[in-house]
Amino acid sequence: MSETIRPLNFIERIIEEDLNSGKVTAIRTRFPPEPNGYLHLGHAKSIWLNFGLAQRYGGKCNLRMDDTNPAKEEEEYVESIQHDVQWLGYQWDGEVHYASDYFDQLHAWAVYLIEQGKAFVCDLNAEQMREYRGTLTEPGKESPFRTRSVEDNLALFEKMRAGEFEEGACCLRAKIDMASANINLRDPVLYRIKKASHHQTGDKWCIYPSYDYAHGQSDAIEGITHSICTLEFESHRPLYDWCIQNLPVPAEPHQYEFSRLNVNYTVTSKRKLKQLVDENHVAGWDDPRMPTIAGMRRRGYTPKALRDFCEMAGVTKVEGVVDISMLEHAIRNDLNDNSPRAMCVLHPLKVILTNYPETQTETITAPVHPQREDMGTRALPFGREIFIDQDDFREEANKQYKRLVKGKRVRLRNAYVIEADEAVKDAAGNIIAVHARVIEDTLGKDPADGVKAKGVIHWVAAHDNLDCEVRLYDRLFTDVAPDAGGKNYLDYLNPNSLVILSGCKAEKSLATAGLEDRFQFEREGYFTLDNKHTNADSAVFNRIIGLKDTWEKVA
Ligand code: ATP
Ligand code: MG
Repeated sequence: MSETIRPLNFIERIIEEDLNSGKVTAIRTRFPPEPNGYLHLGHAKSIWLNFGLAQRYGGKCNLRMDDTNPAKEEEEYVESIQHDVQWLGYQWDGEVHYASDYFDQLHAWAVYLIEQGKAFVCDLNAEQMREYRGTLTEPGKESPFRTRSVEDNLALFEKMRAGEFEEGACCLRAKIDMASANINLRDPVLYRIKKASHHQTGDKWCIYPSYDYAHGQSDAIEGITHSICTLEFESHRPLYDWCIQNLPVPAEPHQYEFSRLNVNYTVTSKRKLKQLVDENHVAGWDDPRMPTIAGMRRRGYTPKALRDFCEMAGVTKVEGVVDISMLEHAIRNDLNDNSPRAMCVLHPLKVILTNYPETQTETITAPVHPQREDMGTRALPFGREIFIDQDDFREEANKQYKRLVKGKRVRLRNAYVIEADEAVKDAAGNIIAVHARVIEDTLGKDPADGVKAKGVIHWVAAHDNLDCEVRLYDRLFTDVAPDAGGKNYLDYLNPNSLVILSGCKAEKSLATAGLEDRFQFEREGYFTLDNKHTNADSAVFNRIIGLKDTWEKVA
């Protein structure tokens, strides 16, 4: 999908107007994650949008850790966020920013609001605050502490800062309008007491700014022109604007909202994903079944496929759910065009080619990609014994079965036509090998006797291959909307979301595969080396995705 031919989305239209009218000379956006978990598919959308807009319009995009809440943040998350943004193909302007970098300035501006008579220290407890706030249909009531003098407020706020009050004893609130139809304007909290140390500022502070107070001011300090967030912040925009208008900030950023990305068959909430990790329903944040960027990277999804998916999903103000098959489509598209082909037998069954000399081996040359000569060729060892998949042989079968059948012919992909003679069985009657014959002179040709092969199957030489483990992943949830309408998503975990196969046989050329390489294992799907297993002696391949959508059939 080309970026230039689709119509502009509503944010692009706003930006173009702002640039054309001279309202801004250059744009600056930001991606502001709270470092309290790993980034997920929803964040990928926000990253793609913010960094992508900056790229498209020759602007800049900042990365800002929204670390106003000291209790929940961890260094591990700060690092993973940077890694994920870069892996998606983006680079922030300058250093990584932290909202906590601005705590001194935010505090000074809070003092300024008090001096202007626009903020006050309120002693109502949480329950009273709720009571006074009113409802959507009823106005709120003014706090009895709203009329405190500027001097008293300054002194009390300083005591809050100095740690002289317990958590919850009081807070700093903006003095706006308790009768406003917008609850966010009913004297919102600007500062709370929290006696917790912070990963950036240590024990310097025991009062922390609210998101609403910190965010717009951080945007202003950084010179953000277009502050893009999700729709749930739409009703916060008047407060965002109030702060910008009532403070001596160095710039006037504007907030724009778009609808968040929701995808079916998955959950995109850090809290829920953290629960999956903490309760060991998955093996960590980067479990290849997780919709985290780290998980999708380990699974083998490509940064381009994720960007293409975000583009396809579009940018609107309409709430909706995107079908996960759209993501899978984007992945297959990218991989089909660009991944080398290889053969790997997942459930090996030995085939002994009885007319092929025991001492002989040969090397067959095959294209790396059937449509892309530029990708070159690969060498396939061939000999008297090969492996095929157990599913690709039957003693008897109907016409629909176009694989190897006793007494019939099949073509080995990139190699000869063979004909099966008999099945070798163990005492229990299980097929443990097949005796077959090579039909002479069929490399790249049909058999001279005119009896054509029905189908093509993949295979791997028994004398020279790579023994490997293959991990087959499926959707993590069986339900289309696992966390909708009060449902517990843990009830819909797919018990078959991971199947581990050992003793698989891959073609020898895969022994030199690199961690970033992605292959189409012919007839099986797309695979990549698991990035937790770097030892070539024990290759572990992850299935990125199957060749076709098998879920559509089930549904
Ligand atoms: P979560 O609910 O998973 O914790 P969040 O919105 O609280 O998500 P933040 O770290 O605050 O997580 O988000 C950083 C940025 O990513 C914000 O600008 C937020 O609007 C955006 N974002 C988060 N989830 C989505 C989503 N599903 N679609 C689009 N943007 C998202
Ligand atoms: Mg958040």
